[in-house]
Amino acid sequence: MGAKRGWDRREFLRTAIGAATATSLSGFLPLRAQQLPRGQKAVVVTFGGGARDEETFAPEGQENIPHMLSELIPQSTFFTQVINHGILGHYVATASLATGAYETFNNFAQTPPDNPTVFEYFRKDLKRPAHDAWIVAPSNGFNRIGASDRRGFGPELGAEVLLPKQLLAAAMGGKSGNDYEHLLRDNYESPLYTSAVGGGSGSHDAEIEKVADILKLSVDDFTSHARSLASPDELSVFIARQLMRQLSPSLLWITLHDIDIAHSGAYSLYLDGIRRSDRLCSDIWKAIETDPEYKGKTTMFILPDFGRDSDISPGGNGFQHHRTGDALSRTTWMMVLGPGVRQNAVVDRPVDSLDLVPTLGSLLGFSPTYAKGSPLREVL
Ligand SMILES: [Zn+2]
Repeated sequence: MGAKRGWDRREFLRTAIGAATATSLSGFLPLRAQQLPRGQKAVVVTFGGGARDEETFAPEGQENIPHMLSELIPQSTFFTQVINHGILGHYVATASLATGAYETFNNFAQTPPDNPTVFEYFRKDLKRPAHDAWIVAPSNGFNRIGASDRRGFGPELGAEVLLPKQLLAAAMGGKSGNDYEHLLRDNYESPLYTSAVGGGSGSHDAEIEKVADILKLSVDDFTSHARSLASPDELSVFIARQLMRQLSPSLLWITLHDIDIAHSGAYSLYLDGIRRSDRLCSDIWKAIETDPEYKGKTTMFILPDFGRDSDISPGGNGFQHHRTGDALSRTTWMMVLGPGVRQNAVVDRPVDSLDLVPTLGSLLGFSPTYAKGSPLREVL
């Protein structure tokens, strides 16, 4: 991506968000003249699985994201250049977003992040109980994302990790059925985990029962509702909403992943994933705005984990994968909505994927000691 490409991108992003009316933010802008509301909450949604500009904010992609363009962007501060300098694998990249440091572990290993997660900082500094920080993760390979094993931090300070597919598989008691197969597909990249869902050990089942009890979901209600859902991400958002109703966690992280079906090579399914993610982001914001525990005191962050390869990148195969590490696959965006955040505003300076955690720290009042990014002053 040369200078011309960068210019084009800035132009179409500004067009997409209605630059004629948007305020351009630059320099130091103290925003919060007033105190944040009591009980400030944050919801992070990763528009995950790897989406490119071409199929989202570029002129030819805008038809795929009507909800973000017409409902969310006008209420948000929009960062047009969020650069990911890390490893472009979904688990390791999402973990990096959650620690504020580029993690270097094997994407396909079931390993905790090396650096403390945002959940650990949050719970430790603010003395929050376990049920106040949750992550809803798309793949069973994400099961260690809730906590590092760093000394002074660790699982006892981490987030509860919900794996909706595991929950559904357990609820079905090991039975399989065509009604659910589309919800249980676990990983689009590696064959290793594709059949990893299913029954489990006794302690595993006890864990599932505990979660079902917390969510106030009977197995029958859950499985019958699940049958009506189109994809794993719909299942994740269904679970997340149940979590919001029952426990109202102050820090909730929802990782979407349907878009990654692009690895199959089916462009239409990739677009379906983007359209569904667009709608689900709008649904999550509506859930926030209609829930008294969240309304008016919740900041929502939406950002992709990373992009996908460009059509012209040598060694790549276009939208299908994210293998080349080219500029396009590293350059994404972020929108921030909530009380005290400027609406219809745009930030063009390049920021880093790692800036998310320090920003959450400044927002909620904790110190992410090992995070490498910087707080995004435009939304603080
Ligand atoms: Zn992928």
